[in-house]
Amino acid sequence: MDKILGETLACWTEKHPLLNDIVKTKEVFWINPLYGKCRKALDEISLSMMDIEDASQRLIRFAPYLEKVFPETSPFGGIIESPLREIPLMKSSLEDFCDSRLEGSLMAKCDSHLPISGSIKARGGIYEVLKHAEDLAFENGLLKPYDDYSILANDEFREFYSKYSIAVGSTGNLGLSIGIMSAKLGFRVFVHMSADAKEWKKSLLRSKGVTVVEYDSDYSLAVKEGRRQSEGDPLMHFVDDENSETLFLGYSVAALRLAKQFQELEVTVDEKHPLFVYLPCGVGGGPGGVAFGLKAVFGDSVHCFFAEPTHSPCMLIGMMTGLHEKVSVQDFAIDNLTEADGLAVGRPSGFVGKTMKKLISGIFTSTDKNLYRLLGMLADSEDLWLEPSALAGFPGPCLIEGSEKGKEYLKRHGLEAENILHLAWATGGSMVPEETMKGYYEKSKI
Ligand SMILES: *Cc1c(COP(=O)(O)O)cnc(C)c1O
Repeated sequence: MDKILGETLACWTEKHPLLNDIVKTKEVFWINPLYGKCRKALDEISLSMMDIEDASQRLIRFAPYLEKVFPETSPFGGIIESPLREIPLMKSSLEDFCDSRLEGSLMAKCDSHLPISGSIKARGGIYEVLKHAEDLAFENGLLKPYDDYSILANDEFREFYSKYSIAVGSTGNLGLSIGIMSAKLGFRVFVHMSADAKEWKKSLLRSKGVTVVEYDSDYSLAVKEGRRQSEGDPLMHFVDDENSETLFLGYSVAALRLAKQFQELEVTVDEKHPLFVYLPCGVGGGPGGVAFGLKAVFGDSVHCFFAEPTHSPCMLIGMMTGLHEKVSVQDFAIDNLTEADGLAVGRPSGFVGKTMKKLISGIFTSTDKNLYRLLGMLADSEDLWLEPSALAGFPGPCLIEGSEKGKEYLKRHGLEAENILHLAWATGGSMVPEETMKGYYEKSKI
């Protein structure tokens, strides 16, 4: 094998022994040695609670518009939010899965059932399109912050936005969110899809008038092409999944909403009753943004873990080596081929990796086979139907309570397993066509 950024593979594995298993696509669990006190880590980054509040306020301004154009959001007053649910039967199934008792409790945050686009991308993706639309309307004197934003549904605005276009690179779900939202506002939209993108996502977008450009290559190329298309076109906005602070902040608002849901359920999260959150990770914007928000809201009481497929552990390699976006899984001869299409990313976001380097507790990986097994278990036990990517976080409770590394982590932080609330972030699935879901379920039984 060629040298990787000037060093041999042997040299990298000596520095980071876990790489031996990672390159063999074995499941691993990495505890972040840089994880630190929240206050200090947050002080070192440029974004703050004020930015999260600002994003939250923007979504509140848009609520009357969303309520009008997406009636499914009207029960929640135009706020795009997902259910939080206890999944005790899945906890029992997980105990069988990992053959160890779980003392903590288990919940799922069902972003799979977010209105409009049925995945975590309905947070960041839709937020960035709305912010862009607001910026344009403000600049052109068509809108004021205190206006009733439902006027954005008028023809006058749709005509105004039709002069502008939006481009994005995606493995599927981001394109779905950006495409649906942009088309609704009246923008022209170009979605550059990687080879992983599922056919039904492309057809759905085309039916909404979105231009879908297909590539026979992975996500990094789709993003590059989208970026290139928008360069030199001042009327085109590129949604940059690898670098966008706007996307990141859109995701982060989830934490304020979750805190409210905990309050309503009278669930306590504090130093002695820690919240452990497991977030499926692709390029990093979604899980990174949510985790950033969670750290800002819950501080040291929340412990965030990213979860990746064994064939696409880009954030793990990037954070562990400190090389971030400079390295891809392909550099380590890992193929980036996974059924978890939402996570099929070979090169992580450097912005997210660096921003979160002291805030993330660790990262673990799962084989596709286990993602499918978990898919079947969750469907059977709780009647909750997710797409394969969304299962990546579910081994989390097993690793924390059942593995040596997990137990050591609890001990180091003075935590008792029985006081833990495990929260698996269920990132997508409700829009998967029934036939496709049936196929997933059948695979879970093999
Ligand atoms: C995109 C996606 C993720 C991960 O988000 P990133 O921002 O790419 O890290 C997780 N789950 C699903 C279902 C997704 O579509």
